[in-house]
Amino acid sequence: MTLLAEEIRVIIETEGPMPFDRFMELCLCHPRHGYYLTRDPFGVDGDFVTAPEISQVFGELLGLWAAHMWSVMGRPERVRLVELGPGRGTLMSDALRACRVAPEFLAALDVHMIETSPVLRDRQRETLAQEQVPVSWAPSFDLVPDGPLIVLANEFFDALPVRHFVRAEEGWCEKLIGNGADGRLYAGIAASPEPLIRADAPVGSVLEIGAASHQYMARVARRITDFGGAALVVDYGHAQTALGETVQALWRHQPIDPLEAPGECDVTAHVDFASLARAAEASGANVWGPTTQAQFVTEIGALQRAEALKRRATPTQAADIDSGVARLLATAPEAGAGGRMAPGMGALFKALAVTSYGLERPPGFDQPRRDAGGVAP
Ligand code: SAH
Repeated sequence: MTLLAEEIRVIIETEGPMPFDRFMELCLCHPRHGYYLTRDPFGVDGDFVTAPEISQVFGELLGLWAAHMWSVMGRPERVRLVELGPGRGTLMSDALRACRVAPEFLAALDVHMIETSPVLRDRQRETLAQEQVPVSWAPSFDLVPDGPLIVLANEFFDALPVRHFVRAEEGWCEKLIGNGADGRLYAGIAASPEPLIRADAPVGSVLEIGAASHQYMARVARRITDFGGAALVVDYGHAQTALGETVQALWRHQPIDPLEAPGECDVTAHVDFASLARAAEASGANVWGPTTQAQFVTEIGALQRAEALKRRATPTQAADIDSGVARLLATAPEAGAGGRMAPGMGALFKALAVTSYGLERPPGFDQPRRDAGGVAP
């Protein structure tokens, strides 16, 4: 049993079974035993590899996207470039390097890294040590001072906890984690249903609700609405809200039951882009997309960027650049974690943009979200 599992058992003993979102949050962000707080999980030796770790082109293009949005915003004298969940800091480092072609943008920047993990915060400090722009760290977006802003979030929302409700005869009952007599953790359901959920579905269906993601997005979008700006979210997930449970736990690239080793494995859930979009629209912002990662990075110039980099590269570097970009764009099904077939990253991952009212089309997005509540310019 992991140290975190022991602690969770004690909490359950004193407070009773806990909802899945509390369990997931403890797994990832417990101050002593949380997965992100105790390690650097990225890369081939870690549990997963993310787009900025696959190809420098990804962060570079997101940086240029941000620089473009700054001009669209009317080039405010100061702008906050905020990254949510920056991992190793690779995306921001690549973004700032690419933006050397836009020195006025760099001169206007205050970079804010929103990170809960002290281990990763140290790692990000190392990565960004040589940067010439002011960089500061905070554990929550709410601590970023007011003002015009551009927010980047890659694989952040999938790490925010989700609640699960299971359809029983009497209604939707929340999934709870409880203690088994054998010393293990078990999933069960609450005795009485949640009266606010009215959706109809066959008994046994699971409804996954990313309440923490919605709230986070609502706060980001509110800030964008109030002060002007844009956000770009890239994550794996689905464009339409659907029934079903998507939580996945990974340990060294292999799927594992999240109850088996709390704190030792990464636990994520697919992002429900439709409800993320609705949360942003409810805060008065315009929403663009979602589009697939493949389409988004192609439209903002992945292939051209790769060609430009290759002109200065050795043959080995050129081959790496090509394979990295190919992975970002891959849409065909491929063997994923545990050898299971899954759509390539280019199709599984989606991009969504949020802009303040009246801003023109952000690069990479053809049109506003179809049932957008905000008015398209
Ligand atoms: N964006 C990075 C890392 C993605 S992993 C990349 O693409 O490589 C998720 C990141 O979010 C980690 O840095 C993790 O520590 C951070 N994180 C998770 N929950 C968080 C929260 N509630 N607030 C801030 N950061 C969080």
